[in-house]
Amino acid sequence: MLEIKTEKPVQVIDITHQVNDAVKESGVEEGLCLVYTLHTTTGIVINEAESGLVQDLLRRMASLAPPGDGYLHDRIDDNAHAHLQAVLLGNSQTIPIEEGCLVMGTWQRVLFLELDGPRRRNVLLKILPG
Ligand code: ZN
Repeated sequence: MLEIKTEKPVQVIDITHQVNDAVKESGVEEGLCLVYTLHTTTGIVINEAESGLVQDLLRRMASLAPPGDGYLHDRIDDNAHAHLQAVLLGNSQTIPIEEGCLVMGTWQRVLFLELDGPRRRNVLLKILPG
């Protein structure tokens, strides 16, 4: 389990290094790594961590599901936009493992997206040989 303490209402955190460390510690040489967030207002994506692109991503998510847009869920929790953004992003990724490391392209990173922070978050890692 990765424990992440987010610091902002919306935030993109590159967790590639922590995931790769967990793969190395597992001793699995060939297999799959599931990265799965246990929350309904966070996302897990694989993409580039370039700072401009990160800002573009957050801005686009805000325009696709803006806060306070008359959502029914806001009557009880005031964070419907964050749930809807999380649905669009997805809550897990499965990454191949070869030679004891994640198989990633040059610019690929595992990104955790906080959409309703700051909070303490948990991301489950399941590392399976195969
Ligand atoms: Zn809610």
